[in-house]
Amino acid sequence: MIKKILIANRGEIAVRIIRSCNEMGIKTVAVYSEVDRTSQHVFYADEACCIGGDSASESYLNIDKIIAVAKQCSVDAIHPGYGFLSENAEFARRCEQEGIVFVGPNTESIETMGDKISSRKTMIAAGIPVVPGTSEKLAPEDLLRVCDNIGLPIIIKATAGGGGKGMRLVRERADVLEAYQTARSEARSSFGNDTVYIEKYIEAPHHVEFQILGDKHGNVVHLFDRECSVQRRHQKIIEESPSPYITPEVRQKMGEVAVRAAKAVNYVGAGTVEFLVDKDYNFYFLEMNTRLQVEHPITEEVLGIDIVKEQIHIANGKKLRFEQKDIVQHGHAIECRICAEDTDNGFIPSVGVVRYVHVPQGIGVRIDSYIYEGYEIPVFYDPMIGKLIVWATNREYALERMQRVLKEYKISGIKTNIGYLCRLIGIPDFVKGNYTTHFLEKNAARIAKKIPENETANNEDIAIMAAYIDYLMNMEENVPKTLQDNRPISRWREFGKRKGILRI
Ligand code: ADP
Repeated sequence: MIKKILIANRGEIAVRIIRSCNEMGIKTVAVYSEVDRTSQHVFYADEACCIGGDSASESYLNIDKIIAVAKQCSVDAIHPGYGFLSENAEFARRCEQEGIVFVGPNTESIETMGDKISSRKTMIAAGIPVVPGTSEKLAPEDLLRVCDNIGLPIIIKATAGGGGKGMRLVRERADVLEAYQTARSEARSSFGNDTVYIEKYIEAPHHVEFQILGDKHGNVVHLFDRECSVQRRHQKIIEESPSPYITPEVRQKMGEVAVRAAKAVNYVGAGTVEFLVDKDYNFYFLEMNTRLQVEHPITEEVLGIDIVKEQIHIANGKKLRFEQKDIVQHGHAIECRICAEDTDNGFIPSVGVVRYVHVPQGIGVRIDSYIYEGYEIPVFYDPMIGKLIVWATNREYALERMQRVLKEYKISGIKTNIGYLCRLIGIPDFVKGNYTTHFLEKNAARIAKKIPENETANNEDIAIMAAYIDYLMNMEENVPKTLQDNRPISRWREFGKRKGILRI
């Protein structure tokens, strides 16, 4: 039985995993880079070890250092979270060799599914519908012939791809060669592997994915669907569950196919089977992520299942706790990814000290984050600083709730995408649930619209800042003793109290 786990990750996901471990009575070990000394996951864990360096390659991607800490702290298992080493077969193998449980699938599944060409081949062999395209390494002399066979538009993709990188859309025959070269060089620099292949470009599809769980006894269930079509540069921004697009019949069929896909690679642990769904509800396997996804909380909210606990339960060699018939979707959940970025200025990451945070609360609200007042966001890692998740009995109520909590969420000192998300979820097609992966591109100008200076939202932000500054200036240690008893109550402090941002 696992009694102590090292979390080979940082930020919100490390904190989130530690929370589940705490509930299960499992001890935790955090690892951190030099610059992450003050990161919240370090304070949350029972033990914490600095693994040096600042960049990911010196720290969270350094297999030797992480294994050394795991041995030094005598952990039974390592949870890799998402990103970093979570889909690294070599890391999973090293854990196995060292007698440490890797909380994830076996190395063969990671290898097969981590390469888009080999996963396509495996899925085709298992009778799973894949996006039409090639399943071989593409040579330049074959390009035009393959293109003509598949028919334009096409998308050239890196077999080692991830995070939307190494992908090129081609609409004109004349552009094929150039797109091929660009995709290859991007793939080489991002993944150290320049193998690319071609898929038919599905026009305006939906990205719908299924969460699955498999145990070491051959049982696999799916935990239903997530709609992830709100994407910027092929990266998800908002996810919801259930998908507002697919019908109950399509949902059932997709769930069955997702389970078959997982069984085809003897999948163990939590994973996600991603599909593209076209306008006629044809669905095609896109890829399988062999780890916990960023957006897993919406599934947890709709099903009442803690996926991290289930991962640990499976890693302990236990049988799944439920059968498919026991798993029922209840209500609706939406997640917004909160990022430290300047949405008015090319979405460049915003770093610096977090001066003030007001976290929304209330029924059906969940925040998975790790920032706090005074925390300095480093330049080295992903700009996502948290996730705002709401749950309600239906989609309409969930949207109302998301609108309310986004307005309530205040972070200052750094720039965030909260205002952008507020505008996005008010766009009529989003409200109606009538959107595809082209939604952001189609509505970019409307979402980017800045709120005029004199509108209340801006004035309110300024007033909240004033209330907070007033509060800081009036803290006991800042006020001369003689003045302390006769301080007038500032109207800014009153304002802060009324808004619920100051409690004193
Ligand atoms: P990555 O592994 O880089 O995330 P994916 O293969 O999962 O790449 O695709 C990411 C997104 O790119 C999809 O959700 C979809 O919006 C778009 N995409 C990928 N392949 C296609 C395709 N064949 N047709 C249309 N859109 C696609």
